[in-house]
Amino acid sequence: MTIRHHLSDQLLMGYAAGSLPEAFSLVVATHVSLCDECRARLASYDTLGGALIEAQGQVTMGEDALEAALARISGTAQATQRAPLRAAGIFPAPLADYIGSDLAAIRWQPIGMGVKQAILPTDREATARLLYIPAGVAVPDHGHRGAELTLVLQGAFADANDRFGPGDVEIADEAMQHTPVAMAGMDCICLAATDAPLKFRALLPRLVQGLFRI
Ligand code: ZN
Ligand code: ZN
Repeated sequence: MTIRHHLSDQLLMGYAAGSLPEAFSLVVATHVSLCDECRARLASYDTLGGALIEAQGQVTMGEDALEAALARISGTAQATQRAPLRAAGIFPAPLADYIGSDLAAIRWQPIGMGVKQAILPTDREATARLLYIPAGVAVPDHGHRGAELTLVLQGAFADANDRFGPGDVEIADEAMQHTPVAMAGMDCICLAATDAPLKFRALLPRLVQGLFRI
């Protein structure tokens, strides 16, 4: 798996600090379980967090403390990396913990044009869902009132910005308007998290979005 689209520093730091909504934590944990690069970055934030707390007790916080903490952790990030746990099927272990590993057991809810979703049980601060987008089908053109993370589990999708394959994560915010289209050849399955309703241009999706929590 060649991953080209990774998590932001902000997301990794939030995850390390335990400050993300559960739905976002699930996407971060799932990407990290697939991605050596983000796992190494996360390990350094975990260590950095601990070192900063330690340093805070000793000296006044400032650039020196950050530098000292960074010096202390250099070289240790590699050592603290753990091999990811792999679950059977397309669901990586952190996700399989939520929904089991059996794709056939997912209870999909049709949301139009052959697109299906399954909302996952997380706290209501943000919503996590599986999305099933048939090959060649587009999700309606939309903008975002908050953050949206979309992690590809199977197949691929593209929007005007880029192409996203297995393991890639797209990070969308208020500034982004897009029309994700599943690539031909294979149905696309994604794990997505949003912390605010999407903004649809077309009337039909606007009418049903409350129903589907999109
Ligand atoms: Zn990554
Ligand atoms: Zn979006």
